[in-house]
Amino acid sequence: GNGGNALEVRGLVAGYGRIEALHGIDLEVGAGQLVALVGANGAGKTTLLRAVSGLIKGSQGGVRLFGRDIAGDSADARVRAGLSQVLEGRQVFGPMSVQDNLLMGSYTRPEGREGRLEAMYALFPVLKDKRLLAAGTLSGGQQQMLAMARALMSQPKLLLLDEPSMGLAPLLVREIFAVIARLKAEGIPILLVEQNAHAALSVADVGYVLETGRIAFGGPAGELLRDERIKAAYLGL
Ligand code: ATP
Repeated sequence: GNGGNALEVRGLVAGYGRIEALHGIDLEVGAGQLVALVGANGAGKTTLLRAVSGLIKGSQGGVRLFGRDIAGDSADARVRAGLSQVLEGRQVFGPMSVQDNLLMGSYTRPEGREGRLEAMYALFPVLKDKRLLAAGTLSGGQQQMLAMARALMSQPKLLLLDEPSMGLAPLLVREIFAVIARLKAEGIPILLVEQNAHAALSVADVGYVLETGRIAFGGPAGELLRDERIKAAYLGL
């Protein structure tokens, strides 16, 4: 049945003008699952997230959030339906304080936001220490945490993360993956796009490999980690 899945993508075709970047994608994120989407540069990972969040419209195929068809909805309507995307490159509002960035994240659900702010400060103590500082003064890793915390302020039913470890030093990459593991433990369904395929598959339940706009492999993340073809092509082993 489809009622249990947080996200279902069926036969999705999408692109930019006449350039078709996704040629019929089937993918699902089960309730409470962490799903990793990996693949080379230009494979279409970001395009897939954009088509799910509504930043671009698919030309064919279905997108369902907890069984509800959202393929015709605007990006804003999808946010209100419970979908939250953390864009590549940590798009925080630099001149605004850390705390105001977080409060911005709760605009769709203002009720109870003080409690959620405290929950975010418990999850990311560094953000509490810096809550009154301009977000632009934070380090890259701290800005990534802020972008994630801001997305969580809307209490999403599905979280889309685009390359959260990009450009971070190894220690911070580990910290970001530890946060992702904690979100998974809290039962938030997550679709995680990562260049860092080994780290992503190590924390995920399920993995998909995207190759030039098509799903080349999909299955339990542990199986993908052991697959010789995937090891050779994506895991640098
Ligand atoms: P990366 O890891 O580099 O972000 P990706 O797997 O996310 O790669 P996409 O950014 O989704 O890949 O790109 C998929 C294809 O769509 C590529 O061929 C790319 O050149 C093309 N593309 C991406 N953005 C646009 C755009 N705004 N206009 C036209 N073509 C685009």
